[in-house]
This record gives sequence, structure tokens and C-alpha cells, in this order.
Amino acid sequence: MGNENQPEKILKDVELFLRQQAELFGDETFLPAAAKGGESDDGTAPAVQTPQLQSDEIKVESHPGKSEPKLKQKSKTIRVAEDRELFEGKVLNPQWMIDPHWYESDSLATLDSRISGCKKCQLGTTRKNFVFGVGNPNSKLVLIGEAPGADEDEQGEPFVGRAGQLLNKILAAVQLRREDVYICNILKCRPPNNRDPLPAEVEACEPFLKKQLEIIKPKLILCLGRIAGQTLLKTNVTLTDLRNNIYLYEGIKVMVTFHPAALLRNPNWKRPAWEDVQKMRKLYDEL
Ligand code: SF4
Repeated sequence: MGNENQPEKILKDVELFLRQQAELFGDETFLPAAAKGGESDDGTAPAVQTPQLQSDEIKVESHPGKSEPKLKQKSKTIRVAEDRELFEGKVLNPQWMIDPHWYESDSLATLDSRISGCKKCQLGTTRKNFVFGVGNPNSKLVLIGEAPGADEDEQGEPFVGRAGQLLNKILAAVQLRREDVYICNILKCRPPNNRDPLPAEVEACEPFLKKQLEIIKPKLILCLGRIAGQTLLKTNVTLTDLRNNIYLYEGIKVMVTFHPAALLRNPNWKRPAWEDVQKMRKLYDEL
């Protein structure tokens, strides 16, 4: 075979491979137009196209001049399949103590009642109280921390105690009341000794957060603390980078600032935190 036929042979091999994939998956979208018996718009043999997956759970919007953190991208198709399995109860273990219809909940109160006995991860056996969330169920702003601490575990409410009081003051400084926004955590149960959430715990609990967001339909999320930002956005970038960018999570804009408990430990961070919440308030007003 002469070299001049090589490109044609490669195209034929690729077309054969795509045809096999189409037969295997019963989906002709794998095939280029010619392989489906069609032709391109200009009547010439079409070029082989790669399949277009619906993807991009997490995108980054950078401010000019700022470095872009590298974030994991996840196929939307895969996520929907995982959620549907949970929804249909295919992977729902009765020992998790979750109502199998939790995914159908159309209000926060219903969702809370259906998952509040959850023992899907080890934290379900060590918590004192399940901490679902609190605030305005129609708010366009949701504040998300990483997990309940000791005070939250005692009272069953997120961001109480000294850190919670400081958070209330921060909100008041930008003319927002605690009851104007919705406040919750990624994990609904306290990790022992306030350790960082484990990846398996986040994986187990995150579907509940996604369902909360689906019901609330906020326009903006403010992550409180580096761990909350990194955990939600599945990244290891620094808090400085997190604070200097606006991200997307499930199609919702995300900003990250300091955790109020960190501000109690280091008052020098109050000024940059103040600048963050002013930016947040400006974005909130524009939504
Ligand atoms: S942390 Fe989440 S997944 Fe784990 S037991 Fe509590 S509610 Fe269930």
C-alpha cells in the first residue's frame, strides 16, 4: 500500500471503530454523518468528529491577571446516573436509615425529616445531633461551611456559638440578617475533634447538599473557610486563590472567604474578610 492511501485508511479504521461503538451502545451519535448514511452540509465527506460529552460540573471564572486554579471536571452524565441510582433506591442500604424517597422531597422540611436519621457514613454514629441547615428557604444566597463543630453538634444548628455570633455581625455589616440567607454545611454531622471531612464522608453527604440547593435555587454561594471551599470545589488551591476567583458549583456562582472561627483566632484577617463580604454584597445586588 502506498503512503498516499494512509490517511484514507486511518479514517476508515476510525469509522469502523466508531461504528462498532455505536452498535455496542445502541447510540448513533458516536458516528460521523457519513457513517450514518448522511453527508456534511457542503456535500463533501465529513471529517471524523469526537463525541461531545455533556460535562463541566465545575467551571472557573477568573479575574483578569489572576492565575487559574486547576479544577477537576466531572461528566454530568455520570453524576446524573449516580443520583438516579440513589433516587431509585438501587444503591440505598436500609442500614443508612434514609427514607428511600428522600430524593423526591420538594421542601427543605420534608428533606430534613427524610434524612435526619442518616447513618450513611461513620459520623452518623458519633454525632449528638444531625445539623441540616437554617434560614430562608427562598434565599438567593447560601452560606456553606465544612461541617458542624461542637456547639453546632450540641444545638443541631449551623454556625452558633462565638463563630456564629461573629458571622451574624459580618452579615449585619452588609445589611443582611441571618434569617435573610440560608446557612448549612457540606457534612451534616460533626467529625470527631473537628477534624477535616474525609473524602468518603463528603461523597456520602454531598448529594443531600445538592438536593438542598436544588430546592432553594440560590444564585450565590459563599463558602466559609478554606476547607469548605476546597471540599466543595474539589481543589487544593490556596485560600488566597480561592478568595480571588469566582467559581461555579452546580451552575451557582461561588465565592470563598475566611471561616469566622479563623477570624476569632487571627483578627488581622478581619480586614480582607471585610473586603470579601463587600465584594459578595455587590455581586448579590447584581443577581
Ligand atoms: S455526615 Fe452526612 S452521610 Fe454521614 S451520617 Fe451524617 S448525614 Fe449521613
